[in-house]
Amino acid sequence: METKIWIVDKFVDKHELYPQISQAAELLRAGEVVAFPTETVYGLGANAASSAAVKKIFQAKGRPSDNPLIVHIADYDQLGQIAVDIPDVAQTLIERLWPGPLTMVLKKRKNVVCEEVTAGLASVAVRMPAHPVALALIRESGLPLAAPSANRSGKPSPTSAMHVLADLNGKIAGIVDDGPTGIGVESTVLDCTTDIPTILRPGGVTKEELEHLIGRVHVDAALLNEKEKPKAPGMKYTHYAPRAPLTIVEGTSGFLQQLVDEQRALGKKVGVLTTEERQLTYRADAVISCGKRSDLYTVARHLYDALRAFDEAEVDMIYSECFPNHGIGTAIMNRLKKAAGYRVLYEK
Ligand code: AMP
Ligand code: MG
Repeated sequence: METKIWIVDKFVDKHELYPQISQAAELLRAGEVVAFPTETVYGLGANAASSAAVKKIFQAKGRPSDNPLIVHIADYDQLGQIAVDIPDVAQTLIERLWPGPLTMVLKKRKNVVCEEVTAGLASVAVRMPAHPVALALIRESGLPLAAPSANRSGKPSPTSAMHVLADLNGKIAGIVDDGPTGIGVESTVLDCTTDIPTILRPGGVTKEELEHLIGRVHVDAALLNEKEKPKAPGMKYTHYAPRAPLTIVEGTSGFLQQLVDEQRALGKKVGVLTTEERQLTYRADAVISCGKRSDLYTVARHLYDALRAFDEAEVDMIYSECFPNHGIGTAIMNRLKKAAGYRVLYEK
């Protein structure tokens, strides 16, 4: 299949309805899958009501079928069509944070979203993305769009159309290209079916922001202890991984450099994932910065691109610096640890 590319520019194309968007929407209505930009990462969309269309997402990504998808909507009517019994806390968050990088797990309305989307669960994950192109595409298609990240399963999520193309060229009907995404890590997944809402996946909205709006918020035990079984089915899979094995290093840059030197002495090609502040302190075969340590939102934005860059550098192994585990840093460390298969080395 030839993958069409529609180039749009949200800063230039002021109208809601670009011809590119209507072409992409038409393919979605015809049951095809199309990648589109959101404020977090690129999504791979299909009609959430159609089993046949949603199966194409799983196939293109090579995604396990027990990993449910997030349904993307553009207005509140669509929410009522797919979810029921929306609790007050969810209502508050909808008013304050939508559109935005917050996914809420709600009770599913029967017989609307197909079984493949929810992997047979009684709940459905819903989000309204804060991106004019995503919203225009959903509106123009007239469909709720099931949309996981538009990468091959296991690889870093795509933050540019180039990343999508690298993974899915020839496997999907098209890509709406609006350049790099803003936030760079996926949405926060919040289970609103429990008495106290529970974070199943840290993401673009922080725990601190949620607590400020609705009070107490739980964190799924699996996020605090790797041995627990996660409540979000998808969180059990290794993910975001570059080709070369990644190890997180908790300690000084001197300790990290020492690890690099040891491996290079054995003839290995070694990569270092660092930040602008420390980029010049390392000697290695590839030293890649993922942003500014002084502004962790820049790290979130560039993390996946940096992980993918190591594939091109063809290193044998990668050592990464550690980030503070609060605010947006929680999402960064969650993705890094998964990419590293939870390998962490501590300085004594
Ligand atoms: P992705 O589509 O790749 O952004 O991943 C979506 C995440 O949300 C995965 O970790 C899923 O397991 C999780 N998720 C989706 N639907 C549900 C649901 N109904 N209940 C719990 N977790 C969900
Ligand atoms: Mg994903």
